[in-house]
Amino acid sequence: MSNKSKIWLSSPHMGGTEMKYIQEAYDTNWVAPLGPNVNGFEKDLESYNGIGHASALSAGTAAIHLALILLGVGAGDEVIAQSFTFSATVNPITYLGATPVLVDSEEQTWNMCPLALKEAIEDRMAKGNKPKAIIPVHLYGMPSNMKAINAIADEYEIPVVEDAAEALGSSLDDKKMGTWGKFGILSFNGNKIITTSGGGALLSEDEELIAKSRFLATQARDNAPHYQHTHVGYNYRMSNITAGIGRGQMEVLDDHVEKRREVNAWYKNILKDIPGISFQTEPTNDYYSNYWLTSILVDPKQTGGITREDLRLALEKENIESRPLWKPMHMQPVFADCPYYGGNVAEEMFENGLCLPSGSNLTSEDLNRIKKVLTEVFHSASVTQE
Ligand SMILES: *Cc1c(COP(=O)(O)O)cnc(C)c1O
Repeated sequence: MSNKSKIWLSSPHMGGTEMKYIQEAYDTNWVAPLGPNVNGFEKDLESYNGIGHASALSAGTAAIHLALILLGVGAGDEVIAQSFTFSATVNPITYLGATPVLVDSEEQTWNMCPLALKEAIEDRMAKGNKPKAIIPVHLYGMPSNMKAINAIADEYEIPVVEDAAEALGSSLDDKKMGTWGKFGILSFNGNKIITTSGGGALLSEDEELIAKSRFLATQARDNAPHYQHTHVGYNYRMSNITAGIGRGQMEVLDDHVEKRREVNAWYKNILKDIPGISFQTEPTNDYYSNYWLTSILVDPKQTGGITREDLRLALEKENIESRPLWKPMHMQPVFADCPYYGGNVAEEMFENGLCLPSGSNLTSEDLNRIKKVLTEVFHSASVTQE
């Protein structure tokens, strides 16, 4: 193992003003859940995304859970989800006693295949169980084909919950991801494009439902001097301290997106002449990805036998983190019994795919270290000198 400093896949990147907001909370003794930073962060999210309402929560997972509750998902129901994702997309379905119905990806965006979605809906309806919601995911920041997905969702009148945990700052037709469905969810976990150390948000145009999400997220306390409850509640609200980090991070979000897109362009340039390497790429100019993680497919038939695992291990030896793509949920032991629709698009991507270090805080020294490994693995002649 190398004694060089670790290069992370994606690490927290503070902008500078976060401490100001935290200090303010401290000085005014708003060291509590809720407070001015939570309200301010929600306003920032609303105006940045161009959406009516946002509630700041303890995690993206909590946001998905609440969205499904607000859509009335319960025991025995079915919810359609993209199979190619992180488990947090699907876990909340099972918290409610509902069954995930998993759908394959398309090759263009790597996200939910509209054809497989339609097939899933029709087959579940034929079996007498109309799905209660559809959860597409914007993997690694790449927008899903929301125009096709929404058209199908509208046709069958099934609400869409967009998992935009990885896609804050991405857009399709200049409309931000997270604003295309009935609900959108965001995550501010430590490795996301901005972070609050841990946190999430629920977005919607529906003021009443967002108000209800805040109510459910604070233990569902009815309006009474004593503690009175007519609903089961949750402790899912964001704290006023972490929301302070979020307010500072919002000031540098667009810089982070720009930097991640530069890193993506840098990889595309240095690897452009290597046969057998392809990138997750915006299919048309309507798509704008934050390129949270730059992701490649390595086809050993064209690279002279070099696999993504060879590359991953070579990077690891130099203390550089990279990671295989998400293992699809239908291949996970815990979800193996769930219905699945589609082919082997996600399976093959998982087999051959790798996420490369993509942080907005990568230095030119970091990039040089990464390039050196890529050069060695794929032979010096083919890696383009920039
Ligand atoms: C990070 C992530 C989540 C969960 O967010 P948390 O804030 O970690 O709970 C959900 N879905 C996807 C696709 C994610 O990447």
